[in-house]
Amino acid sequence: MKGLRKEVADTTAEIMRLVARRNDLAKRIGEIKSSESLPVDDARTENELLSLVVRESKKNGMDIQTGVKVLTLLIAEAKRVQRRGPDAVETPTAIMAMAKELERQGRKLVRLDVGETDFAPPRAAVEAAESAMRAKKTHYTGARGIPELVSAMRSFLMRKYGFRAGEEQLVAVPGGRFAIYAALASLMERGGSCVVVDPSWPAYKQILEQLGARTIAIKTTFEEGWEPPVQKIAESIREDTRAMILNYPSNPTGKVVSEKTFGALVKVARDAGITLISDEIYDTYSRVGVPTILHHDLDDWLYVGSFSKSWAMTGFRLGFSVGSASLIGKMVNFQALSFTSLPEFLQHSAIAALGCDAEVRKNAEEMQERMDRACEALDRVPRLRYHRPDGGIYVFPGVAADVPEPSKFAGRLLREKGVTVVPGNSFGDYPEFFRVSLGGPTESILEGVRLMGELLS
Ligand code: PMP
Repeated sequence: MKGLRKEVADTTAEIMRLVARRNDLAKRIGEIKSSESLPVDDARTENELLSLVVRESKKNGMDIQTGVKVLTLLIAEAKRVQRRGPDAVETPTAIMAMAKELERQGRKLVRLDVGETDFAPPRAAVEAAESAMRAKKTHYTGARGIPELVSAMRSFLMRKYGFRAGEEQLVAVPGGRFAIYAALASLMERGGSCVVVDPSWPAYKQILEQLGARTIAIKTTFEEGWEPPVQKIAESIREDTRAMILNYPSNPTGKVVSEKTFGALVKVARDAGITLISDEIYDTYSRVGVPTILHHDLDDWLYVGSFSKSWAMTGFRLGFSVGSASLIGKMVNFQALSFTSLPEFLQHSAIAALGCDAEVRKNAEEMQERMDRACEALDRVPRLRYHRPDGGIYVFPGVAADVPEPSKFAGRLLREKGVTVVPGNSFGDYPEFFRVSLGGPTESILEGVRLMGELLS
């Protein structure tokens, strides 16, 4: 026993030395990547390593899942040592920090970076929370949500989508972000990878990284109209892939795929036996029909809905998820473990909000009007290119190739004109693009676009 324990300790020490050596090699590779302006992420190398790990695990009679988990950890370590410092002022965080500092100094900025609307929440939702609080609805509840809310979600899904949800397929969540976190935490328990279509909402990758999982980023391009390459996505799926996230209307491009493309992507997930997560939180903001996962047949899936955008209730932190019973069950469990239950009185707010179709419609109309005005204005700006969004609350323009240092445009726009936008690199490898939010008042959007025009003329 003593001898064996000594051997275990020696083996552990040897593993530590090997990890340190591996990190050292990764760091040297990072320096080369940096000097040649190559991205830190390298999907091909990761895939080759994955095949190696699967092979070696089998050869050594080791559980493949364990091998994959160790590799995920090693790759995360390599990326950590390769990450460059926030030296360039154009990194998204640096730009946001600069905006905060300028505002602190009293400079008035035109804020086109904010990811929420200035619409008011439905009155009925506010009043329901108020009266529920007064009626002492201030207790713990079940982690899925109170039965009245579960039943209201069920009626809403029937009315809106003709979808008949079983109770075991439903969960009320504190916002879409948490739903995605809870789902990925459940799916990536033992490591793994997830397909994300770029440009994408940054949280997907950040959550995956936090969970020690790998992102398989699929690039879509302006030239191809942000159309997802179905075949390439199918080919990118590996032994360790557990899920794929779709988000239409997209944050940041506003793209909505056709029903046919959506169906093809569902088929890819089904054939590969992975979970399809469909983040549909912007669905009411669309001038075209939005395909929904609720109209497709799949064993493992999740629909992400939220009161944040359509109902203008960001600060309420309320959303609703529907999905395969096994995944929803895990999410309910995850919620019980992490925060017990949603605030009881806010669940009454959610019930009221689910009946506020008129307010949701009004918000959508107002957004459409803003989108039209913003696009008219953007059309007059020289040296900008963008696709008119199908939906969502953002526009994702890029500066033309003849603009000097296109990747520094967002920083220049802030410094020289006091307009904040989110730089394209927040959403993937899109240095010359930037996201314009239509969350604020129309006059402010038009003023921001006018100032962009000044800088680009
Ligand atoms: N998905 C996407 C694509 C988003 O843009 C956001 C918010 N910016 C969310 C989910 C999460 O929103 P919430 O947590 O407020 O529901």
